[in-house]
Amino acid sequence: MPRRSEPIYLDYNAGAPLRPAVRESMIEVLNDTGNASSVHSDGRRARGRIEAAREKVARLCGVQSRSVTFVSGGTEGNMMALTPVWQAQGAPVYLEKLFRSAIEHPSVVTGGRFAVSKQLVVPVDSDGVVRIDVLRDSVCDEEPSLISVMAANNETGVIQPLAEIGAIAQEHGHFFHVDAVQAAGRLEIDMDAWQADALTISAHKFGGPQGIGSVVVRSAAKTPSALMVGGGQESWRRGGTENVAAIAGFGVAADAALEETANLRHVPELKTRLEKGLRAICPTTVVFGEKRERLANTCCFAVPGISAETALIALDLERVSVSSGSACSSGKVSVSHVLTAMGVEDDFARCALRISMGWNTTRADIEGFLDVWPGIVDRLNPDARHKAA
Ligand code: PLP
Repeated sequence: MPRRSEPIYLDYNAGAPLRPAVRESMIEVLNDTGNASSVHSDGRRARGRIEAAREKVARLCGVQSRSVTFVSGGTEGNMMALTPVWQAQGAPVYLEKLFRSAIEHPSVVTGGRFAVSKQLVVPVDSDGVVRIDVLRDSVCDEEPSLISVMAANNETGVIQPLAEIGAIAQEHGHFFHVDAVQAAGRLEIDMDAWQADALTISAHKFGGPQGIGSVVVRSAAKTPSALMVGGGQESWRRGGTENVAAIAGFGVAADAALEETANLRHVPELKTRLEKGLRAICPTTVVFGEKRERLANTCCFAVPGISAETALIALDLERVSVSSGSACSSGKVSVSHVLTAMGVEDDFARCALRISMGWNTTRADIEGFLDVWPGIVDRLNPDARHKAA
């Protein structure tokens, strides 16, 4: 077989490639001078760029632009949202506890600004879906608290029942935060249907720059208290001189992502092809969460006896980039807390690989992966291909 000339990138949930239009918009801004807080024309131009981007991000999330606060990414956004002190109609509201699911991103697992003793974990079922029954029982007699559940899991792509969770929050007087970092651009964001008070998004998951994201609230009258205080930027919600180039790029990516939520038609087909191909190569392949609704771009799978750590290296040598579990903790391949919460045995969880696709993934990428995978399986566990499912 002739050697492929192009590398294959299948790790969009860790970070999507920058879109060309985003790069161009950022370069234009990098040529500007001026701080958006200055009143002179240079400052006003920077301000104009920020406000134009805010409108685009607001459109992606179906809210008014004053609901959008720019922060440095998903981690900071989650840290900001996970606070026991919110502002509602100009007065502080104190939230007693934090209820979060067992499969949240580490930036939510840390609990933000809630004391450890005030954090409670809601389990998931074996498909990786939050146990609504447990959540309801846990929160029904509590003082106003915060519920934080992700829209879709970064490792498995399993989509969570947000509207049901939002209804529980509403019924019992709790606030509801959604980590929508993996959902933006892949699922329609509907804060009203979810009855979500706040959500977090991050630009680099859908082709924007790294290091920029947003906390988005349903109503600007009800917001988490500031995490970074300083010069009054972002209507006192996030201090610090704005990263105008990143914000401008974020806006361009948000526009493209909004269009794609409806138009990423090729991605579900690619996932179907991928999963069929994986099973044809190795009948014992397990796809985690496959019985439930998942993001169209994410496939988390394992083949018994093939360690993810070794497979990652073998794929890397073939110039195929995928991930094992969450990229945020990669570098060292430890057992995924998500798979553990789903009841997967440690030894098998160590075999889990994640393939994630996006705006620039092609059929050739998937075929390229499926071309090299049989050889890797044969080298790492020759028996695997001959075992029945
Ligand atoms: N939340 C989820 C679900 C994520 O997958 C990630 C990153 O992978 C984050 C939050 C953190 O986002 P950022 O990398 O922008 O800090």
